[in-house]
Amino acid sequence: MRISPFSAYQTEQPELHFTPKKDETHLYDVVILGGGFTGISAALELAEAGSDVAVIEAYGIGNGGSGRNGGHLLPDWPSSFHHIAKYLSSEEADLAWDIGMSTVDLALSRMKRYEIKCDLQMGYVHAAYHKGHEADLHDMQETYDKRGHGGLTFLPDEDAIREHVGTSTYHSALHEAGAGHIQPLKYLQGLARAAEKAGADIYQNTIVTKIDPATASVTTKNGQVFKGRQLLLCGNAYLQNVAPTKMRRTLAQVTSSVLATAPLSHNLAKLILPQNDAVADGNAALNYYRLDAQNRMIFGGRASYMIPDNPAIVGRDLRKRMLSVFPELSEAEIAHIWSGRIGITTSRIPEFGSLSAKCHFVQGFSGHGVALSGMAGKILAQNALGDGTTFETMAKVGHIPFPGGPLRTPVLALGMAYYKLRDRLKI
Ligand SMILES: Cc1cc2nc3c(=O)[nH]c(=O)nc-3n(C[C@H](O)[C@H](O)[C@H](O)COP(=O)(O)OP(=O)(O)OC[C@H]3O[C@@H](n4cnc5c(N)ncnc54)[C@H](O)[C@@H]3O)c2cc1C
Repeated sequence: MRISPFSAYQTEQPELHFTPKKDETHLYDVVILGGGFTGISAALELAEAGSDVAVIEAYGIGNGGSGRNGGHLLPDWPSSFHHIAKYLSSEEADLAWDIGMSTVDLALSRMKRYEIKCDLQMGYVHAAYHKGHEADLHDMQETYDKRGHGGLTFLPDEDAIREHVGTSTYHSALHEAGAGHIQPLKYLQGLARAAEKAGADIYQNTIVTKIDPATASVTTKNGQVFKGRQLLLCGNAYLQNVAPTKMRRTLAQVTSSVLATAPLSHNLAKLILPQNDAVADGNAALNYYRLDAQNRMIFGGRASYMIPDNPAIVGRDLRKRMLSVFPELSEAEIAHIWSGRIGITTSRIPEFGSLSAKCHFVQGFSGHGVALSGMAGKILAQNALGDGTTFETMAKVGHIPFPGGPLRTPVLALGMAYYKLRDRLKI
């Protein structure tokens, strides 16, 4: 089975078409680079507040991580809250905590408000392979409890786990009622339509080759110049060399891959995921999976610093990972395999920052952006509209550049190999 350049979602859903009402000669209030969850969310907020907005997207809406992810819809920040709290006063930390915990609520409220049908299912299992992972789950539960956030149930043994996941692989787990899964491209396209309806101009197939933070403008491959009073950079891991050095130093790109099986029988689906939860394990190069609305297993994992990842081994490796959890899927046909780019920071906390008074960015959702990037886009929009409280708070969180200089990729790969070894040794 070959890796497809498109996700299963992209091959099944027609691309959207948009007709911008203005063109690049117009001075927009805000130009947004990137048509993923972050950029579209910012555009929606801004357009609804009456701003004149242009979204510039290199390909079709959903070509980036937002249209090719696992669809796991999780609240909270991607890594321990202490990486945020240590930079903030206690009031600021409270604000950051509330922001993290309201990301799923924002997504749910938008699904309802814009009537976006995206196969939403609530219920999530954080699985531990061993006592080391279990300690992380206890930490998570303690932090939630301390801050008065409920919804977590500890699953101490195989019997308790089997009510949610039909496997004997895990040592223990934590069930989260306030998280779940969606078909992400349906959600993104719904948001993009809502942004267009609110007045945003969306330019697809428009590749930006140059960014000028001082004048809040971008130049495209075809020589068009889009200018705004403000510029928001929402290209995340796909921005690559177009990103100014300040952004590149603190972001590493990782390839994550996903497979979709052919639809499983109702009985098999009920056996492996009886309550239709989504599941992720605690490994550094984690496995994450769920059943979609057609009962296909959508199984993701395999983090790699190779862009693109090695096509010869991606499918084999993903299948092996899936069978290690569910040997009963050995006969399941692998219908689709695809990859995408994840932007990670050293702390795994997204970076909010500015390149000039007119140019702001967020990047590095570290594989945890389906709900969070929507909130990040909203925060960028609020800042552009003059309420910088949350943006400025999040911009206080420090980010250490990745080591390595010219040897950056080999150094990062070495780091990842170390964490994969730890996963294998179960420490
Ligand atoms: C395989 C995979 C699985 C994942 N699974 C999950 C999951 O299950 N749950 C979860 O919470 N998170 C997951 N993530 C992460 C999540 O998808 C991302 O954090 C989120 O989509 C980031 O949204 P974004 O809008 O910031 O970036 P993107 O969606 O990547 O959007 C950036 C956009 O910018 C555009 N762009 C970049 N450069 C240019 C340019 N020069 N000119 C014009 N346009 C440009 C790109 O084409 C792209 O469309 C996964 C990611 C991947 C890749």
